[in-house]
Amino acid sequence: MTVDLWEEESDLFAELNEGRVIVKEDNSVDFDDIAPISMKEKESIDLSNVPKKIHGLIIRIEDEKINLYSSRDIRQNKVMSPLLDNLYGLKEFYKGKIYVYQTPLGATQAYVFRHLLKGRLLEISENDAKLLKEKANKVGTPRAELSSDGKSIELHIPKIKFYQDFVTKLNGYPLKSGVYRIRLDRALDLETLIYSKNSLLPIMDISADLKKINREPIKGFDGTLDSLKNISVGELNIINSNSQTWKSLKKSKETLTEKIEKFGIKTLYDLVFNLPKRFIDKSNPQDIGSLFEGESVSVVGIIKSVSSLPKNMGIVFSITDETGYSIRCCFWRQEWLRSKFNEGDEVLITGKVGWFGRKLQLNGSSIEHADEASLLPIVPIYKQSESKGVTTKLLMSAERELFSRINSINLPKYLESNENYNSILSELHFPSSLESFKEACDRMAFQELVYMQLLLLKSKENSEDYRGISKIESDQKLQSKAIKTLPFKLTNAQVKGIEKINEMLSEETPHNILLNADVGAGKSVVAQLVSLRAIEAGYQVAFMGPTEILSQQLKKTFDSVNNNLPEENRITIGYISGGMKAAEKKTIIKELSEGNIDVIVGTTSVLSDKIKFKNLGLVVIDEQQKFGVDQREKLLDSRGDGSRPDLLMMTATPIPRSTAQIFYGDMDLIILDEKPPGRIPIQTEWIKTNPVEMIAEPMNPVWADVIDETKKGNQTFIINPLVKDSEKIDAASVEKTYKTLSGSTLSRVKVGFIHGNMKKEEQNQVMSDFRDKKLDVLVASIVIEVGVDIPDATRMIILSADRLGASTLHQIRGRVGRSNKESKCFLISEGKTENSQIRLQSLVDSDDGFDIALSDLSVRGEGTIFGTDQSGSSEMIFASLVKHKEKIDEARILAEKIMSSEYKDVALEDARNRYELSNED
Ligand code: ADP
Ligand code: MG
Repeated sequence: MTVDLWEEESDLFAELNEGRVIVKEDNSVDFDDIAPISMKEKESIDLSNVPKKIHGLIIRIEDEKINLYSSRDIRQNKVMSPLLDNLYGLKEFYKGKIYVYQTPLGATQAYVFRHLLKGRLLEISENDAKLLKEKANKVGTPRAELSSDGKSIELHIPKIKFYQDFVTKLNGYPLKSGVYRIRLDRALDLETLIYSKNSLLPIMDISADLKKINREPIKGFDGTLDSLKNISVGELNIINSNSQTWKSLKKSKETLTEKIEKFGIKTLYDLVFNLPKRFIDKSNPQDIGSLFEGESVSVVGIIKSVSSLPKNMGIVFSITDETGYSIRCCFWRQEWLRSKFNEGDEVLITGKVGWFGRKLQLNGSSIEHADEASLLPIVPIYKQSESKGVTTKLLMSAERELFSRINSINLPKYLESNENYNSILSELHFPSSLESFKEACDRMAFQELVYMQLLLLKSKENSEDYRGISKIESDQKLQSKAIKTLPFKLTNAQVKGIEKINEMLSEETPHNILLNADVGAGKSVVAQLVSLRAIEAGYQVAFMGPTEILSQQLKKTFDSVNNNLPEENRITIGYISGGMKAAEKKTIIKELSEGNIDVIVGTTSVLSDKIKFKNLGLVVIDEQQKFGVDQREKLLDSRGDGSRPDLLMMTATPIPRSTAQIFYGDMDLIILDEKPPGRIPIQTEWIKTNPVEMIAEPMNPVWADVIDETKKGNQTFIINPLVKDSEKIDAASVEKTYKTLSGSTLSRVKVGFIHGNMKKEEQNQVMSDFRDKKLDVLVASIVIEVGVDIPDATRMIILSADRLGASTLHQIRGRVGRSNKESKCFLISEGKTENSQIRLQSLVDSDDGFDIALSDLSVRGEGTIFGTDQSGSSEMIFASLVKHKEKIDEARILAEKIMSSEYKDVALEDARNRYELSNED
C-alpha cells in the first residue's frame, strides 16, 4: 500500500501515532506502537544508498545528524514548510530527484522533526525512532504561567523560532535561559496569539490561574446589557491598572479612569457602543499602497529602517505593511522615539499624508507598538483624543478585555432570537471578516427597527387618546389679508399646501404634518401663513429654527409679513434666545404664559426648556431632524389638558412617505414640488484645484468674478469646512481664507467672516451686516448651511468641497439663487477620491435635492462606517432606510406581536432606553 504524502491527511493518517509510523516490508502499515522496521540499521546515508524512488519520507540518524529524505520538495507543502524555519542548523540538498534535509542531532531539532512528521508515512529504524523521541523529550512543554508574585506572566519556551515569535510579538524580555516575562495585561493577547496560530507544533499550555484572569467575571454584570450601564469602565484591569506613558502623564496627572470618563465613556455600556470609526483590514492589499495626500490615517506596519534627520530635526521610520508597500514616516523633533522603536517592530502609526519630494510621506502624530493590533486580522480604529490621553489602542484593549470577560449577553426574549448578542457586539469591534461585520450590523439594524416600531405603535396607541384642537373661527381673514400683502405671488404648490394644512388644522384630531420641499421652494412663508390661522383662532404658536441665525431670520421674515398687515390686524411676535439676559428672558416667558405673545420664535433648545404657554395651538419646527422625539413629545404634551397642538415640520431633505412614517409615525406629508418663478438656475462649476493654493492666487478668474459681482451690488459667500487650520484635516479654514483674501486679492471689497465658535451676538451682528450690505463677501463655515436667506447673494464658493456631504453641499448652494439674478456656485476641490468625484459631479449635473441625495447614498457607506455623531442615540445607528427596506416590514410584524404579548412593557422600556426617551409619557 502506498499513500501519497501530499494528499490531505486522511482519517487513517489521523489515527497514526506521532512520529512512529512504520511501513512493513510488504508495504502494509502497522498501527501498533513501535513495530519492526523494514530497513536494515546503520545504512549508509550516502545518497547512492537511498532508494531511487521514495514513497513518503525516510528519516535516518547518522554522525550526530538527522537526515530527512523525500522525493518531493517539502518547501512546497504549505503546512510543513513553515516548520523547516524552526530547524536550527538546517542544510538542504537536492540530488538525483531526492531532497535531503539535514540538521545536527539536537533536542530542538528532534522536537521539531517529531511534530513535523506526525502522522506522515515514514520509514525509520527502531533505534533512530527511539533516539529521536528521547532527544525530543528533553524539550519541555512550552507553557505560560502567572509569576509567583502574580504581577506578570512567565513564558517557558524552547529555543525554537515558532515560540520565540510569541515572545517578540508580546514584547517579552528574558529572565533566564528559556524563560521570558511579559506584562500581565497581555494575557488576553497571549491567548489570541496562541489560538490564531495554525501549526503542527504544540500550542503553549496556559495555566489555569492565567486563564482565569482573562475570564474574570465582571462585578455587577448579570447577563443583561442594561446591567453594564451601572458598571464603571474602571472595572476593567486595563483601565484600573492605570499604566500610562510619561508623555500622557505629562499632559495630565489624572488616572486613566478619569481620562476615559472625560472622553465621554463612563460605563461599560458606553464602551460597548463606542464603535470604531473605521477598520484597517490587513488582508486587504491597499493600506499603505493606497494613501493619498492630505489624508489623516492610521497604518499598521513593520519598521524596516530607522534613521535620524540632521541637527536633531527628527526621526524617520520606514514602514512596510503586509502587502509590501512602504512609506516614510517622519516624527519631527522626537529623537527620543529612537530608543523605543526598533527595526522589525510592528507599530500603529497615526499621521497625515504629505509629500516628500515626489513620494508620499506620513507626518506622524503618534506611534505605538502595535501589540494586539498585530494579532488582529482587522484592526478597529476608534475616535481618539491624544490631548485627553485616550488612544485608539487603549480603547481597543479595553474593548477586548470587556468582551473576553463577558461570555454571553442575553438578547431579550421578545426578540425571538437565540443568537448570542455578545458575539454580535464583539463582531462590531473585532470582526473576523468584513462580511461578518456587515452581518452583525444588519442584526443590530433589525433590532433598532423593532424598537423604533414599538415606539411608533405606542405613540399611535397614545394619540388615540388625544384630542386635537380645531382652529376654525367663523371668519378667518388674517391669512387671506396677509397673502394679499405679500410682495410676491404664491406658487400653486404653496397655495395648495396652505389649503391642505388649513383643512388639517380645522379638524378635531391632532396632526403631524411634514412639509417637504427643496431649498428655496418657500416653505417658511407657508408656515407663517398657516400660523396666522391658528393665532386668529386664539392660539399661540411655537416657531423653532435649528440655529440662532436661522431663528432670527424666521423672526425677521415673520415680522415683515406682519408689518404688511393693516395695523389693527397685527399680531405679537416674540423672540427668545439662549444668549439673552436672564431678565429679558423672564419677561418674555411671563408674557408668553399670560398669552400676550402670539408667536414665539427661537431655537429648539430654548423652546424645549421651561416655557409655559397659555394656549399653545401649533408647533412649527424648521429643518431640525435632530430635535429629539422626547423633546417633541414633551412640548406637544405641555397643554396638560389631554389635548394636543398640531405639529408642522419642515425639511428640505427628501423623505419618501414610507420613510417618514418610520421616523415620525402617522404623518401627513405635503410636498411643494415647484419653485417660485423667475429664478434662474444656479450654474455650478467644479474647479479642480487645490483650494489653499487658490486663495493665494490673485489672478484666479474666480476672484475677478467676485469683484465684478460686488460692483453690481451683489454678494458672495466663501465656505470653508474648518474654522481654523488643522494638523489633522486638510481643508480650507475660515481663519486662513479670511486672512489671506482680505489682506490681498479682495482688499478692496468689504470682507467679513463668521463661524460657529463666535459668540452668538457676534454671529448675529455679522449676518445682519451682510444682509444690510455692509459686507460684500462673507467668509463662512458651514454655520450658514440651512435656510439663510440673502436675496442679493449671487456667488457661492465652496472651498474643499470634497469634505462635505452632497446634501450639505446642496443646502449650501441653495443660499444663492434666491432672487431672479443669475447665480453661480463654484466647488473647489481636487476631488482625489472616486467617491468625492461622483459626489461633486452630481452637484454639477443636478439641481434637484432628491437626485443628489440618492447619488450620495449610493457612494456612501465606504470610508466611514458609522455616522460621525453616534452620541445622540436618539437616532438610528445601524439601520439605513435604503439598505434595510425589507427588514422594516419584518420589524413591524414582530413589534405588533410584542405589543400584544406579555413582554409589551419590558420591550417598550428597552425601546425607550435605546432612544433615550424619558419615561414620563
Ligand atoms: P426654503 O423652502 O428653502 O425654506 P424660504 O422659505 O427661505 O425657502 O424662501 C426662499 C426665498 O423665496 C425667500 O426669500 C422668500 O421670501 C422667497 N419666496 C417664497 N415664496 C415665494 C414666491 N411664491 N415667489 C417669490 N419668492 C418667494
Ligand atoms: Mg427654510
